[in-house]
Amino acid sequence: MKISKEECLNHVAKRLGTGLRNKVKECRSKGVIIGGRIDGSLKESPILKLTNFYRKAVKDNVPDVQKMKTAIFASLFHTSSTEKAPKQNKCPTGVTPWCFYQRALANNEKPKSHSSMKTMLSEQVLEKILSGYQRLANNELLGRCVSGKTQNVNESSHSVIWNNCPKETFVSKKQLELTVISAIDKWMKTGTLKRGASRSEIQTIYSADTKMTVDQPGDDDENVQRCRH
Ligand SMILES: [Zn+2]
Repeated sequence: MKISKEECLNHVAKRLGTGLRNKVKECRSKGVIIGGRIDGSLKESPILKLTNFYRKAVKDNVPDVQKMKTAIFASLFHTSSTEKAPKQNKCPTGVTPWCFYQRALANNEKPKSHSSMKTMLSEQVLEKILSGYQRLANNELLGRCVSGKTQNVNESSHSVIWNNCPKETFVSKKQLELTVISAIDKWMKTGTLKRGASRSEIQTIYSADTKMTVDQPGDDDENVQRCRH
């Protein structure tokens, strides 16, 4: 049986952001400024935009790795298109895609000027970051993102549990069990962990599960109350 680890899409997308920021630093150390103030430079806002485009390109095309790849490069080339050198041929065609250029072509209209694009990258930036994109658009990595899942729920459940049972404070085994049960139950029932189960909900679940009555010592009482957020 082959077991392969699924990548968390948010973490993979974050890797792109980190890679782009590192590229800016690396270039700066060689005396090349690609993250400056001029138009088309790799500032923080285009980095965040590119990261979001990347995440969306993967998510919208799950589980088709080739489509993910095309969409990733479309987002990069679209963003580095200029009036003189449009690079819109990887963008989705038709009358309703996100790409203004392809949309205009499909409607038999003249595309508006590239200078109105909100996020744009210079040719120099494209040149510097292309290899990083190739690394993050490889089949093997994208193949591990085929369900488009994130670890948000998992991380969220950890934070709920650690909030209610801080690592620094001693909690009873029973309280720990209650907190874990409450977090899991909340997630199973609602798919969200925004609010922990109330004390009475916990008691019901716990009693039903263990056929035991929950006693109510003062300290536990106060800690369980904190589940209400
Ligand atoms: Zn485009």
